Amino acid sequence: MADARPVTVAGKPLSCVVCGHDRFAERKAQLNTRLATLFDFDWVNPQAECYICSHCGYVHWFLK
Ligand SMILES: [Zn+2]
Repeated sequence: MADARPVTVAGKPLSCVVCGHDRFAERKAQLNTRLATLFDFDWVNPQAECYICSHCGYVHWFLK
C-alpha cells in the first residue's frame, strides 16, 4: 500500500495485533445503521477510523 505510514493511537505507536507490523493505510468509514444499532450508537452518526496493516491487511477499527 503506497500510503502506509506509522500510526499513533492514544499516544502510543500502533502495531498490528496480528503480525506486529507498524505501517498502516488510513481509511474513514461511516458505520451503517445495522452496525450502529449493534453497538447502541443509534443516537449518533458514528464514523470509524480504519487502519489497515500494510503487511497482513488486518483492519483496526477505532470509533472517535
Ligand atoms: Zn498485520
